[in-house]
Amino acid sequence: MNTLNKLTLAMLVASLTACGGDNKKNNTTDPVDDNNETPIVDKPSIDQQAPIEEAGLTKSDIAVSTENDWYKAGESGITAAQANVDAIIKEAGAAKNVILFVGDGMGISTITAARILDGQNKSMAGEENSLSFEAFPFSGLAKTYNVDAQTPDSAGTMTAMMSGIKTDVGVIGVDEDIVRGDCSTVAGNEVITALELAEIAGKSTGVVSTARITHATPAATYSHAADRNWEDDGDMSTEAKDAGCKDIAAQLVNFESELQNRYGVSVDGIEVVMGGGRRSFLPKDASFNSTDAVSAVEGDRTDGRNLVEEWKTRYSTGVYVMDQAGFDAVDTENTPRLFGLFNESHMQYEADRGNDVAGEPSIAEMTEKAIGVLDNNNKGFFLMVESGRIDHAHHAGNAYNALNDTIALSEAIQAAVDNTKPEETLIIVTADHGHVFTIAGYPKRGNPILGKVVSVGATEPATASDGMPYTTLGYTNGLGFRDLGAETDADASYSAAADAGRKDLTSVDTTTPGYHQEAMIPLGSETHSGEDVGIFAMGPGSHLVTGTNEQSVIFHVMNHAADLVNKAEATAN
Ligand SMILES: [Zn+2]
Repeated sequence: MNTLNKLTLAMLVASLTACGGDNKKNNTTDPVDDNNETPIVDKPSIDQQAPIEEAGLTKSDIAVSTENDWYKAGESGITAAQANVDAIIKEAGAAKNVILFVGDGMGISTITAARILDGQNKSMAGEENSLSFEAFPFSGLAKTYNVDAQTPDSAGTMTAMMSGIKTDVGVIGVDEDIVRGDCSTVAGNEVITALELAEIAGKSTGVVSTARITHATPAATYSHAADRNWEDDGDMSTEAKDAGCKDIAAQLVNFESELQNRYGVSVDGIEVVMGGGRRSFLPKDASFNSTDAVSAVEGDRTDGRNLVEEWKTRYSTGVYVMDQAGFDAVDTENTPRLFGLFNESHMQYEADRGNDVAGEPSIAEMTEKAIGVLDNNNKGFFLMVESGRIDHAHHAGNAYNALNDTIALSEAIQAAVDNTKPEETLIIVTADHGHVFTIAGYPKRGNPILGKVVSVGATEPATASDGMPYTTLGYTNGLGFRDLGAETDADASYSAAADAGRKDLTSVDTTTPGYHQEAMIPLGSETHSGEDVGIFAMGPGSHLVTGTNEQSVIFHVMNHAADLVNKAEATAN
């Protein structure tokens, strides 16, 4: 019997004895007898083998593990995590600035796939890559359901994040006592948002989105409506208008006076607004078309109001821009207020941005410009930045644009990190909900994430039970397969009916911008999903982002970090 075996058996006996084992039974084998030649090491049951292996470790065995690169990377990660916990500023109010990034529809699978695509674009295998916010020190999960819906929408979820109060699907800035679409139920059910509190506290405020600025996510920062679709007066019923409800675009332009009237406080209005959605601000009259209008009549307003002109009149020192050249000319140190509407509807997908008629900035450029204007206030600022079109690309069943917009958001977050001080700025990155988007099969390491599954050790695509190749990425439902080649506008898929189920992809290049993944269930638009989303945070108070939370907790993290309610109360009184 060799020394190792004797040692392991000695340890086994010790462990069994310590566990209250039957000493009499153990003694029958007399395992510590040096003269026992019987190979009794095979006798212990399966359950008893772990202590043997544990006891069998030698220093040289441990050294093999500790020199392993994965082991060392994890070990230094623990050191960094401990340092982050020690260094974090935990006091209420320590965050002078708060930036909330929302990747609309950016579920966990979207983050993973975008991380891989971004890595592969940089000539890495891809899986080992990290998006900018994945390096943030604290993260947790958010439960996204709305009060009346298992799978949520952006209106209810963003209201929860901005106010700390979960509410119904489809409503903006109001609590669950609302009846969707019923104007008479709005009064008294309005919530106060983090942006409004920051405004009352004297901070600068900003809202940026690549979607229409009146769309659900940005709207939930500044407006209160019984229906997310009330983007302009043309979207509202006569009944709702007669009952005194205002459309979302009008609420944005009148934000300052409406907040003053509601709370009897003095505020100076939102400093930075940038996004798409000009149509809700202009009269339904071709003579008001912008130079880059795509529709014959750009504006949608039926009340004749030109809200862009109203904004310019109210804020004579402010700057209104509608194209890349105007945006580039903005000097942030000498611009007290900035209003940018770069498209009549949503801004372009990042991959399609070059096709915009008058040119429009990237989400990273808008983020940097917004911070440049907002950080001129020594009381700090609140900024919400939404990547609104990750969601739209998924709805269209097009992973290419969803992932490229996610990468663009990652770059915007890095721009925020680069242009703020970590000791005074809380940055939170999250999503409102996920999508029915999956990463599947058993593709080998480094396999193109937009490609067909090639198994470990193989060079040709694997085939399914139907004899045809299949992609790693796919959707449970939606419009399904399209092969639109170089088309960079995901929404081109809506021109045809849903085409669900399996297709022969043998001769299809699934990595092109215009490829739309197969879907199982035919629907006119792919749907949101109901699972949790990630929350990533850095800066003062970010240690509170931990565990699995109701989505409304995000407001409370921001409120603790910047002490918004107390500061608003102190300023108002
Ligand atoms: Zn959506």
